[in-house]
Amino acid sequence: MSTTGDDFANEQQRRAAQAGLNLKPSSRMPAPAAPEVRLTVGAPAALGVADAVFSCRDVSVLYGDKYALSNVSIDVERKQVLAVIGPSGCGKSTFLRCLNRMNDTIAGARVTGSILLDGRDIQDKEQDVVQLRAQVGMVFQKPNPFPKSIFENVAYGPRIHGLARGSAELDDIVCTSLRRAGLWNEVKDRLSRPGTSLSGGQQQRLCIARTIAVQPEVILMDEPCSALDPVATARIEDLIDELRASYTIVIVTHSMQQAARVSQRTAYFHLGALVEVGETNRVFTNPRQKLTEDYISGRFG
Ligand code: ADP
Repeated sequence: MSTTGDDFANEQQRRAAQAGLNLKPSSRMPAPAAPEVRLTVGAPAALGVADAVFSCRDVSVLYGDKYALSNVSIDVERKQVLAVIGPSGCGKSTFLRCLNRMNDTIAGARVTGSILLDGRDIQDKEQDVVQLRAQVGMVFQKPNPFPKSIFENVAYGPRIHGLARGSAELDDIVCTSLRRAGLWNEVKDRLSRPGTSLSGGQQQRLCIARTIAVQPEVILMDEPCSALDPVATARIEDLIDELRASYTIVIVTHSMQQAARVSQRTAYFHLGALVEVGETNRVFTNPRQKLTEDYISGRFG
């Protein structure tokens, strides 16, 4: 079930929660407390981006009675790459799934708080979730092409969303999407072969082409290189750099080196709380929070 920021009706409680990152459940929520995360200096500056695609305020996620995310407030800048880092289990994937309502598909998951996409509340009951997931596409850890041809993997989305007026236009969308994903030259002579016949790195680029084909605004990537070798990883990282000219990208990565290479902003999560977010170079060279410093210097995680 999704609710809005109205759940946090008491302003005083909201402010306390924002400052301390310690969620006080509203009357509609069960009693368990979110883990307390102690910050060395104030709450992280969520704001300050020039042009926010996403504005998240006080976003919390419960799986059953357990908090996976508590009071996360963060903006995502348009046409930039935001890297989400933190120890395993800190809520990175859960946060990513909030941005296209993939948590709706998990039984027992509840999302509270406000998530605005271009100023519109994506948790509104009027929101068409299929449309949202085209606008905010997702690439997963393990490449997951459909059991269809390379062509059909890319053509499927535009066809069901009615984006092509005829077969010539559909061919054009498939070709353009494969080019943008840096895969066209490798597959142009074998478009009818199964998507699964490609190498792991090519399959991941096929999945990116499939996402691009439905004209997204944002691409979410959940550890997209963790199943790939270093050469395939480098191709995807180069591609991410090219794609940010046209799309906003939010990438979850367990690799700090990758975050440093591909992103302009980095968010560090710990025990379901957003500890710090800022310009990537600054976060890695001059972290404001001790928790961030401990993580990037390898003291834990
Ligand atoms: P990360 O991506 O940082 O590794 P996750 O977002 O996957 O973290 O998980 C955050 C917390 O939520 C963890 O404690 C995890 O065990 C829990 N969690 C994740 N998915 C589910 C689920 N489907 N059901 C119950 N708990 C979950």
